[in-house]
Amino acid sequence: MKTVFSPAHARHHPHHEISDGTLKPAVEIPSRAEMVLAAIEAAGLGEILPPEPIDRALLERIHDPAYVAFLETVWDAHRAAGRAEDEAFPFVWPTPGLRPDRAPRHLDGRMGFYSFDAGTPLTAGTFEAALASASVAVTGAGLIAAGERSAFALCRPPGHHAMADRYGGYCFFNNAALAAERLVADGRRVAILDVDYHHGNGTQAIFYDRGDVHVVSIHADPDDEYPYFLGHADEIGEGHGEGANLNLPLALGADWPVWSQALEIALGSIERHRPDAVVVSLGLDPYEADPISHFRLTSDDFSRLGARLGRIECPVLFVLEGGYAVEALGANCAAVLTAFEGG
Ligand SMILES: [Zn+2]
Repeated sequence: MKTVFSPAHARHHPHHEISDGTLKPAVEIPSRAEMVLAAIEAAGLGEILPPEPIDRALLERIHDPAYVAFLETVWDAHRAAGRAEDEAFPFVWPTPGLRPDRAPRHLDGRMGFYSFDAGTPLTAGTFEAALASASVAVTGAGLIAAGERSAFALCRPPGHHAMADRYGGYCFFNNAALAAERLVADGRRVAILDVDYHHGNGTQAIFYDRGDVHVVSIHADPDDEYPYFLGHADEIGEGHGEGANLNLPLALGADWPVWSQALEIALGSIERHRPDAVVVSLGLDPYEADPISHFRLTSDDFSRLGARLGRIECPVLFVLEGGYAVEALGANCAAVLTAFEGG
């Protein structure tokens, strides 16, 4: 299996985040990607390729051009405002009852307008890293379009929380959605299987009214876990997308027997959609020792997951999402991918 990777991910290097109601050390850090890269090299997974530059028109089919321009220029605005800090957080949002239709001129208003949480710091190199991550995903999709049976997009920062016009959940561009869009442009029916511990609210929202991309997610019940305001079982899509969105929320503490039952339901739904390509949003944070999550998958369970995904009949693109148990992250990721190949 070929891997696509860009060292530009390290340009996004936050030191803090707001979580558990306070300022804490950041967990979405460059060592995550380095650990995954080292593990797949050690496992001999296959060739590692650099990404091709992303087609801006493709990027702007998934993301609002004004949002892309905001991310591209926000750090210059941060410096122009005389702010010397090396990370920036939004703190005010146009919630219902306020004006969500106008992007303010002021930097703080703009950060709130284009975000949905305070847990996702902007840094000097965030745009470059996010653009590289998106390029990695789309290049991976290009490998599938060119006839590969599988590919691994080693993306960082992750993407599945990013909405069409808002960042959050450590995500800026929706890498999996961009990869799916690239495959749709190739004439394929696409399914996205999101196995990250957290609901992929951005992916769901982007495709919610579309029938050509089937979105299935297994995640912690949003009544108890981030992103809280999306991810319930009664969200089934709308318009052309009605019936093309499936959420499988699970109670905190879910282990492999529980989680794998949801996986079978997810794969059955995907099979009925008869896709020509599957994009797996590969979050490794269902892991039992993940510092911010509460599922109980073991490293052996990630091998079981990979082997099961290896029985999917159409091509599969893996897109790296979350996973914060940095010491085990690489091994768990390699376990999925090598078991997929073995299966
Ligand atoms: Zn996650």
